[in-house]
Amino acid sequence: MPFKALQLTDSVLRGVQAAGYKDPTPIQLRAIPAVLSGRDLIASAQTGTGKTAAFALPILCRLGAHGRARVLVLEPTRELAAQVETAFRDFARFTDLRTVAIFGGVGYGHQRTELKRGVDIIVATPGRLMDYLKEGTINLRDITILVLDEVDRMLDMGFLPVVKDIVGRCPRERQTLFFSATVPPEIQAIASFALRDPAKVEVGVSRSVTQSVTHALYPVVQEQKFDLLLALLAKTDFDSILVFSRTKHGADKIARKLKAANHSVAVLHANRSQNQRIEALAGFKSGKYEVMVATDIAARGIDVAGVSHVINYDVPEKPEDYVHRIGRTGRAQAVGDAFTLVTPENAGDIRDIQRFIGQKIPELRLEGFPYQPFVSRPSQPAPQRGRGHSGQRAQQGGGGWSHFGANRRRNG
Ligand code: AMP
Repeated sequence: MPFKALQLTDSVLRGVQAAGYKDPTPIQLRAIPAVLSGRDLIASAQTGTGKTAAFALPILCRLGAHGRARVLVLEPTRELAAQVETAFRDFARFTDLRTVAIFGGVGYGHQRTELKRGVDIIVATPGRLMDYLKEGTINLRDITILVLDEVDRMLDMGFLPVVKDIVGRCPRERQTLFFSATVPPEIQAIASFALRDPAKVEVGVSRSVTQSVTHALYPVVQEQKFDLLLALLAKTDFDSILVFSRTKHGADKIARKLKAANHSVAVLHANRSQNQRIEALAGFKSGKYEVMVATDIAARGIDVAGVSHVINYDVPEKPEDYVHRIGRTGRAQAVGDAFTLVTPENAGDIRDIQRFIGQKIPELRLEGFPYQPFVSRPSQPAPQRGRGHSGQRAQQGGGGWSHFGANRRRNG
């Protein structure tokens, strides 16, 4: 079904065409009619599925012409707020609707000016929005549509009390759209608090991401992790690589060492100033930096076209973060490669990830790398230089991983 059949207004349809979208993604097909009908919606869908347009397009249609601030979209991170606001602005380019992004880490001046000019759509992170609400610069009495995006991440970041406060400040008569990658019981509780008789849309992206992206484990001992990272970079023909670290401190350290090894590197984590974060992301997008080292929270949902590889320097803490991370390479059906460095200590985490995605991740060894003895059991060599690590070349090695006991039940 083409976008035309979805009963979007002409000006919004033109915006979609200008964005270069041809056909709606599954979540767009299912969510757009529900949102247009005015119903509340609870959608379990991750970034990469096209969920931004799934709510932005019907919202723009429902708003019609410029008026008061009627839409509030809450996002967990500054990057996401900026990205979602840009999407709204793009789709709205043939309308007179106005948007503003409200987030911390930057001055208040520009945001105040925009608010004064009058906006229809506010895309905000909870903290900075609260500042404006307390001082009375923003009030939510005209809000007719509230979007809570990435609710599971807001929960992780401890935003729930402030999100509840913000929801409580919106009129009771409103449409509420709720997006979360997963909907465990504590999220269900917030949904019950915020939503009324919602339509439900579930898009099972987890499996499709893990199927469209070639991914592999590289077992290695802790002391050799950085050397293996360097060796993988040297042997891989990449356009741009996102390297994930569990901690901010770790991200800084990896970046420092990569720079010392003559790689052009950007760093993205929450302790960096907003200007540094903007510069890092812009530099990575433009190709100025070939590698970006990031933490989960900073990288969640950011849309960087053309990330050819993801390297999990550290195994993610939560299984769903594995899917988020490797999904950075497989956005909108593009394929990419994802490698995960695993140490003996990660055995339990890997077991959880494999259970979560319902598949075993192949193990590879990098040929020629001077592995320390206890991971040196012969196995399938990793592919040589090339975009590879994919297709028939990414065969499953017997690798060192079974030495670590991760698959003890299978491997004895
Ligand atoms: P999102 O899940 O909203 O972050 O979107 C993921 C990526 O898919 C973004 O780069 C979007 O621009 C792109 N995208 C979303 N919907 C479509 C569509 N219908 N056709 C092509 N690309 C799309």
